[in-house]
Order: sequence, then structure tokens, then C-alpha cells
Amino acid sequence: MAGEPQADCLFCKIVSGDVPATVVRETETTVAFRDINPQAPTHVLVIPKVHHPDAAALAAAEPAILADVVREAGEVAREEKVDGTGYRIVFNTGSGAGQTVFHAHAHVLGGRGLQWPPG
Ligand code: IMP
Repeated sequence: MAGEPQADCLFCKIVSGDVPATVVRETETTVAFRDINPQAPTHVLVIPKVHHPDAAALAAAEPAILADVVREAGEVAREEKVDGTGYRIVFNTGSGAGQTVFHAHAHVLGGRGLQWPPG
């Protein structure tokens, strides 16, 4: 069923605690943890606890939880003190765009200059 934990999903295992992560924030609906391969001084992933394959699917099924993810991304930026200089919230969607984990997640990137357009 949509939203249910998936046995083969890495981020569902982080939600359940079966895979360890450096958690920086947690709410009733979201978990924020440091990316294992950081691409910027601040690189935190914010995920919904429910399983949906990408942000668009999450928005279609449970839009309030997508709003929770984005609000938490802003809270991470504030706590990491990158909100003043600017930061990026990225939802890679589809393997052609670099998505490798098919559980919706926002990358929060900051602490260095960020180029536009992104690569
Ligand atoms: P994607 O490429 O947009 O799907 O982002 C997936 C992200 O998950 C990548 O930036 C990976 O470095 C990160 N990642 C993969 N495994 C782990 C883990 O076990 N802990 C934290 N981050 C991870």
C-alpha cells in the first residue's frame, strides 16, 4: 500500500533504526540526517517517514507531509546557520537526474557557493 515501509528501502531502514544515521532533527512525520557522502559543508537529507518513491509521488498522495519536509529543510538550514548566506533544497527525481534512493528526500545543501545552473 502507498506509504507503507518497503523491506528493500534504505531510507525506510533509517526510519526504523535498522540502519544507523547521524540524525539532526526528527518530527512525527520526518527525519533529517547527514548525507554519508556530503557535497557541501552542510549536506543534510530530510525524508518523510512514510515511503513514497519521490517528491512528486509524496505530493500527490500526502501533500501535508511534503510541506513538513520542506519546513524541516528550512529548520535544518536555520540550525546549521546557512539560512543567512543561502542554501539549496534539491529533490533529484528519476535516475536521469541523479536519484539513487527511491524514497522521497530533500537534500539541504549550504555553506559554500552554489552554482546555477546546477550540473
Ligand atoms: P539521490 O542521489 O538524490 O537519490 O540522493 C541519495 C543520497 O543518499 C546520496 O547523496 C547519498 O550520498 C545518500 N546516502 C546513501 N546512503 C546513505 C546512508 O546510509 N546514510 C546517509 N546518506 C546516504
